[in-house]
Amino acid sequence: MARRKKIYEGKAKILYEGPEPGTIVQYFKDDATAFNAQKKDVIEGKGVLNNRLSEFFMSGLNQIGVPTHFLKRLNMREQLVRSCEIIPLEVIVRNYAAGSFSKRLGIEEGTQLPRPIVEYCYKDDKLGDPLVTEEHIAAFGWASQQDMDDILSLALRVNDFLSGVMLAVGIRLIDFKIEIGRVYDGDFMRLIVADEISPDSCRLWDIESGRKLDKDVFRRDLGNLTDAYSEVARRLGVMPKNATHMAKPKLIN
Ligand code: UDP
Repeated sequence: MARRKKIYEGKAKILYEGPEPGTIVQYFKDDATAFNAQKKDVIEGKGVLNNRLSEFFMSGLNQIGVPTHFLKRLNMREQLVRSCEIIPLEVIVRNYAAGSFSKRLGIEEGTQLPRPIVEYCYKDDKLGDPLVTEEHIAAFGWASQQDMDDILSLALRVNDFLSGVMLAVGIRLIDFKIEIGRVYDGDFMRLIVADEISPDSCRLWDIESGRKLDKDVFRRDLGNLTDAYSEVARRLGVMPKNATHMAKPKLIN
């Protein structure tokens, strides 16, 4: 059997060369990291849940005309995506104060913001993904002014979609991070939503109880991460409860 080519291994995912040119297989690992990988663990079932949840959000976005890299889910842990050139920015949209934003500006977590606030961080683990402004982005040529207009519009559309989907199942979308990629269609370049959208990259709070249903459960030791992610999946009707805890397949000789 031919070994497939690994293109990249990150903290939570592995990218393999896809079956056709311009495609990539995105494999979701069970590894969880926080605080720039200073805290690490393996959370059984996380990859399976994130694969399904990212499929759910990305295909929903595709359906409402927000272009994403998602093509189709291949199996429990893998999805086929369009290969793209990732813009080295983390695009963060915030509806309520939390995390680094609360610390930076001294605003209590959970405070509703007057309007969604979009922030950009430069993707560089060695530097701890520092916050940058559009001035830095333009000066260093990471994205053009036209790109930035398109990125802002994509980010706000993703925010409206995700906020609505979550609200419908009693969850408040506090904030999230997306990554944007470039694809080339002949002479034209388009921007698409890439990477993943999952509770690893969003803050999700139960509206009634305030219970956290996202990676803060891991970051802040608030309980079982797969239980939290399973709850999100269950409410969205994405996968039956406990599907991640199924017995491991046995090797048949
Ligand atoms: N986020 C992410 N990856 C990162 C940094 C942030 O997915 O490398 C997400 C995070 O889960 C949250 C949002 O972006 O939903 C805002 O994160 P924040 O800047 O508050 O950082 P944190 O407090 O997590 O360090």
